[in-house]
Amino acid sequence: MLVADSPLLASVSCQLLLTFALACVILCAAAAGVGRAAGASLRPLSSNNLLTWKQTHMRRDRVAEDIYTFTSDLYAKVTAGVILTPEGTIVIDTLPFPSETREMLAFVEQQGTGTVRYVINTHYHSDHTNGTFLFPDADVIAHRRCRETLIESGEQRLAEARKQTPGLGEVTVRVPNITFERDMYVHLGERSLFLTPLPGHTGDCIGVFIDGDKILFAGDAMLPVPHVAWGDIETSVRSLQTIRALKPDTVIQGHGQLLLRGELAIEIESSLKYLNCIKEKVQQLLHKGASEADVLGIDIEACGKSRVPLDGLVQQLHRHNLLALYDRFVGEQEPREERVV
Ligand SMILES: [Zn+2]
Repeated sequence: MLVADSPLLASVSCQLLLTFALACVILCAAAAGVGRAAGASLRPLSSNNLLTWKQTHMRRDRVAEDIYTFTSDLYAKVTAGVILTPEGTIVIDTLPFPSETREMLAFVEQQGTGTVRYVINTHYHSDHTNGTFLFPDADVIAHRRCRETLIESGEQRLAEARKQTPGLGEVTVRVPNITFERDMYVHLGERSLFLTPLPGHTGDCIGVFIDGDKILFAGDAMLPVPHVAWGDIETSVRSLQTIRALKPDTVIQGHGQLLLRGELAIEIESSLKYLNCIKEKVQQLLHKGASEADVLGIDIEACGKSRVPLDGLVQQLHRHNLLALYDRFVGEQEPREERVV
């Protein structure tokens, strides 16, 4: 369904379609380390090594002097950042596949500004943390809950993903060694970074705000469609309000295109409306005795969001949100295997 609905993917080869679809299934399942989706939804691949077939050509954007973003071409346009300073480099998130992490690393080495001193993980999901093992000499910074989750379940989820995704064979779990609970600053060279919790997508999500240039790396707290199936709507709303209060000039979303200040105001308003809309619509349907299928019939566009971003993956995020809300309202506790983004 993901593939068929995607206008971009419809124009590329069948093999690439399959590669992308498999990557989405596998990585999202691997990312789902909490609650009902915890690794239960991984499906065996029917053929081998598809994920190593494609050459990577990541998009790189320069968003300020010595600050760059990288956007994965292999999985759901997940983003990562590089901040170059005379005293070394800071990396924000490390991409899902080592081939792409190495591409980012090669760029850093070409700049000649020294080694990577710090890696910041915006949350524990594998599409943001898999590449961290390629920075063995860097300190890894994250929220305390990110470290705890990776210690508790990182190895198990990675083992599941590795069995089915050859492109992850060499990945090892790198646990953050510097953590914080509320806020923290990181200073390197002339750069000061403000790290603050932005929970809602998951409980350990953080944002990284760069003083001066007012650039916010928002992780998955900011997505084209909010994804709250592993978190909750209320904290996600508060995090969107926190992002707005920071008044960034540029926001790098966890997946997809960056947003400039004017776009951000519109996008936050739209996301707040969307969250309120799905909650109200699911509640209204359940009051009328509606079924799960009825709830899944709530159209993403009826809640003000486009079905196009992330090559159509947003529709899977929307579906996952609806299923999670349905389960929450009916008191469902048991995991169901099909619940994969
Ligand atoms: Zn993500």
